[in-house]
Amino acid sequence: MKCDVCGNPATKGIVGVGAFCSSQCEEELARKQNDLRVRLLSEPPGSMPDELGLKEFEMFIYKLALHFLKEMPEEGRETLRKKNPSLLRVDELAVQIKNKVLGILGRRYVAWKKSVRMQDRYLYGSFYKLRQKLPRAKVAATLVEGMIVLKSGRRMKRRRPSSRRR
Ligand SMILES: [Zn+2]
Repeated sequence: MKCDVCGNPATKGIVGVGAFCSSQCEEELARKQNDLRVRLLSEPPGSMPDELGLKEFEMFIYKLALHFLKEMPEEGRETLRKKNPSLLRVDELAVQIKNKVLGILGRRYVAWKKSVRMQDRYLYGSFYKLRQKLPRAKVAATLVEGMIVLKSGRRMKRRRPSSRRR
C-alpha cells in the first residue's frame, strides 16, 4: 500500500479515505476527507465498481455509513443517542457495518489479522486483508443478507448486470 499523499510505503489508512505513512501525511489526508464526504454523499449509496479491492471496499463502506446517517429519521437518531451514541459517528458506524459485511463474506474472501490495537480499528488494513477482489454482486448480496439496506439503496437491485462481471 502506498501513501496517498507522498507515495512512500504506507502503514496505515483512514477508513474510506486512503493510506498514509506519517503524521504529516495523515493531517493532509484528513483535510481531503471533507471534500470526499461531499462527493460520496452526491453519489447513489449502492453504486460501486465491478470489483472492489481493499481501498474500493473501504470507500464503499464509508459511503454507506455517510448515507445511513443522512437518511436516518429523527426518531432513530434519538434512540441511538440514548442507547449507543457512538454509532452517530460516521467512523464508528463504518467500522460496525464493515465488521458485519466482512463476517458474512467469510474466510473465502477475508483473512483476519490476529492482534489489533484498539486505537487502530478505524484504520483500514489494520485488522484484515482481502484474499481476492470482491465482485460487486457478492457485496450487494452480502448487504441484503445482513439487512444493510438503505431506502435509496433498493435501486441497486434493478440495475442491469454489468457485462464485465464474471
Ligand atoms: Zn506520506
